[in-house]
Amino acid sequence: MPDIKAAIALTGGKDFWLSHAVPEVGLGEVMLTDGPHGVRKQAGSSDHVGINDSVPATCFPPAVGLASTWNPALLTEVGNALGEECRALKVGVLLGPGLNIKRSPLCGRNFEYFSEDPYVSGELAAALVKGIQAQGIGTSVKHFAANNQETDRMRRDSQVDIRTLREVYLRGFQKVVTSAKPWTVMCSYNKVNGVHASENHFLLTEVLRDEWGFDGLVVSDWGAVQNRVRALKAGLDLEMPGNASHEAEVVAALESSDIDEATIMTAYARVERILRRAQDSLESAADTFDVDAHHALARRAAEQSIVLLSNDGVLPLPPETKVAVVGEFARTPRYQGAGSSRVNPTRLDNALDAIAALVGHEVPFAPGFTTDAKNPVGDGALEAAVEVAKDADVVLAFLGLGESHESEGYDRSTCDLPAEQLEVLDAVLAVNSNVVVVLSNGSSVLVTSFKDRVRAIVEGWLLGQAGGPALADVVYGVVNPSGKITETIPYRLEDVPSFTHFPGDTTGVRYGEGLFVGYRGYDARRTDVAYPFGHGLSYTTFAYSDLSVTATPEGIAVAVTVTNTGSRPGREVVQAYVSVADSKVVRVPRELKGFADVTLDPGAEARVEMAVPTDELAFWSVTDGAWVVETGRYTVAVGSSSRDLRLSAEVDVAGNEPVRTISLESTIREAMAVPGFPELMAQLTAGMPFGEIDDDMQKMLLDTPLSALIGFAGIPAEQVQGALEGLNAK
Ligand code: BGC
Repeated sequence: MPDIKAAIALTGGKDFWLSHAVPEVGLGEVMLTDGPHGVRKQAGSSDHVGINDSVPATCFPPAVGLASTWNPALLTEVGNALGEECRALKVGVLLGPGLNIKRSPLCGRNFEYFSEDPYVSGELAAALVKGIQAQGIGTSVKHFAANNQETDRMRRDSQVDIRTLREVYLRGFQKVVTSAKPWTVMCSYNKVNGVHASENHFLLTEVLRDEWGFDGLVVSDWGAVQNRVRALKAGLDLEMPGNASHEAEVVAALESSDIDEATIMTAYARVERILRRAQDSLESAADTFDVDAHHALARRAAEQSIVLLSNDGVLPLPPETKVAVVGEFARTPRYQGAGSSRVNPTRLDNALDAIAALVGHEVPFAPGFTTDAKNPVGDGALEAAVEVAKDADVVLAFLGLGESHESEGYDRSTCDLPAEQLEVLDAVLAVNSNVVVVLSNGSSVLVTSFKDRVRAIVEGWLLGQAGGPALADVVYGVVNPSGKITETIPYRLEDVPSFTHFPGDTTGVRYGEGLFVGYRGYDARRTDVAYPFGHGLSYTTFAYSDLSVTATPEGIAVAVTVTNTGSRPGREVVQAYVSVADSKVVRVPRELKGFADVTLDPGAEARVEMAVPTDELAFWSVTDGAWVVETGRYTVAVGSSSRDLRLSAEVDVAGNEPVRTISLESTIREAMAVPGFPELMAQLTAGMPFGEIDDDMQKMLLDTPLSALIGFAGIPAEQVQGALEGLNAK
């Protein structure tokens, strides 16, 4: 055991990326670094906002891309490769993945997050964590919790009602913690319901450890700790980077008995245990990784990340098509987000070269604009774009967002593409109506103004270092696209459910849309959207048949036959959504509760199975302070997107609702469900004229609390109370 001073020292970093060594117990320094889609190991000056360079590492597609694959097995493979690179670079903990919910498309950091839906976020993040940790490298699931914007991120109070917090914002973390056992969890900068995440006992101890059984260490986001004494008491274990004055405060607090030794030693023990695990596994690590193999994997991941949003049949292009390429993004790829996650790639392939290689010759190209409005565009750029476009059979317009348009540290104020790009697109469309738009963006952009004027839209998100050839392969049909969006693309920013509640002000950000985040909100209001959650096209078609939905002791078993009815091999992501029609609580129209993919040759069919565990059917009961599964009829709808549901079936599920006792506060409706109460009611109301009241009056009475009824009838409360206790006891 080290002395208490050394133990306190280990609860803070040595510097930006390293923990302290504790020589007396044989623990050396361990490096924790970003993440999540590549290793960002800084050899020179350190920073946590992406300013200084890092040693080369494979840049895989960031979470926005990986999420669109809906492919946990692929994410585990990517995780494995990330783990290998950490080993080679002697990094003990990779700081990711991030799985905050995309509450608004304006969040500057959406590229680093998976989805607006906690189910798919949790499933995919868990797969990535498993892959990385299988290499003996730790992960840091972040940013815990309710860190859904960058505006005022170090201070803003996320005010979320408890059911929404549980069901939407914590649910993905719960899945990852319970199923993938991440070594560390990173608390966020913001406050949650009035208390900084780093000092939030409810989050860091009651929920994370006591309920979910987390046994790793909680690390702070970089600079998220205001007061290490309060943070340690709340359940934080490691403050990063180190902070000498915070350390001195802990020493002083110990002397004044403001913190006890046991609290410090608990945190120390967790840090020591996890870092030792990293140290032990790094001891046997090789110094190299297979750069080419990882580049190939990055390309495969990029291929599945691409989403074909629309296509009137123009794609895939035959190789002999006379194409012109417009847009700087084709030559200068935007392939990852800005900020702490920026990776220095081992290679970088662009789409323009890849297209040339694929068709066997150079293709006419005009940049049209610069990737970032900060860089001035040369004179005549628009005219040059029109010039190359006018004689082509098909124009490929590479549009997108530049680094300054979206970044960690600030939110966007618009979802539109930059005006100068839309101007180029308009000018090109004026001379050639055969335009295919290829997008590069980390957060979704509105396509409303051009959606119906172009022949196809390929959503290329941010695809990592091998995205260029992946895009070329999709455009020419070497790869059949199979990605699907994990966030709704609305027609208007104003349609976003959180619109009026984002990003709040200095008094906080109220999550006023409650449970109705993303498709949950669009579906509840039946808002038309440009592309719904789960949407993505293929060059082939899939038919769904023979849905079977059955209750099992574990939950609901779903099976459906999927047939490739087109002429190309393809992969289909099958999605299962669950609804509860007659719920006693507020419900969203449908929620994703299962997905699976299947790859089929033309004409082939397969039975696709999905299991929905009973736990997934639970809602957070505010009354009980617990997860509750309602007994009743559930509808399972299966299809190709949240708004392309092909088949549905109902199933009865036996839940675990607690037996409700009746009190004078219960309404007559609630009480009538309890055996024996209707008879009691008849006695109580014997002298009242209920026989003659009409239906509307009955409805009104049903929602009347018993206390009010007996008040009207002049019956003494004690008399009824006694009878109720008798019923409750049965
Ligand atoms: C980010 C974290 C990151 C950390 C270290 C912070 O600014 O929010 O995601 O892991 O810096 O770079």
